[in-house]
Amino acid sequence: MEPRVIDFYNELPSGVIVIDKMNEEFSELQSINEDLINTLKLYENPQILFRSREEYDEIHEKMFSAIKKTIDEYFDDFEYTFMKDYGITPKQRVHISITIQDELMKITNDKHFSYIESYEAINSVGILTRGRNLPHWNKIYDALSKDELKDIFYDQIKHHIKEYTSLRYKRFRCSECKKLDYYINEEHKCFACYTESD
Ligand SMILES: [Zn+2]
Repeated sequence: MEPRVIDFYNELPSGVIVIDKMNEEFSELQSINEDLINTLKLYENPQILFRSREEYDEIHEKMFSAIKKTIDEYFDDFEYTFMKDYGITPKQRVHISITIQDELMKITNDKHFSYIESYEAINSVGILTRGRNLPHWNKIYDALSKDELKDIFYDQIKHHIKEYTSLRYKRFRCSECKKLDYYINEEHKCFACYTESD
């Protein structure tokens, strides 16, 4: 039989105490984990049915212009100066994520979802959140103008919402099989139906 971690610890004079401690910690972690899973189950993603791709686009364009407006507002010279050290600033982070949250709320009417997803979206700007802790940040900061940095910021958030966040809630009804899917083509067919008819 292979030596086990438990055997190793048992050879130590204080082995029993270590094992007891480990068991205690393990069962504590296990119950925390179970609690988390149960909590997550309570919060399934909202499912929002859009009548067409045009309706989806129209609603989301409104969302993106609201987000853009807040980004414009908090990319003033004062915040921009702070970005040299911090990357995105606490003020930008707070105000932009509140706007994303409000806009997601308008579409999904789901507080928990909007809250969590707004954080995910703001974190999606990735390297911009690290400032001087990121290697070569000075070069990036100096090479780009304020507006160029803002473009990256806005574009990344928009991309994240389009490609990740909205996939969790957007649903369309397939004109053929009538099932709900997050994607339909121009003829309102889901992936399974339009690949079948080819
Ligand atoms: Zn279908």
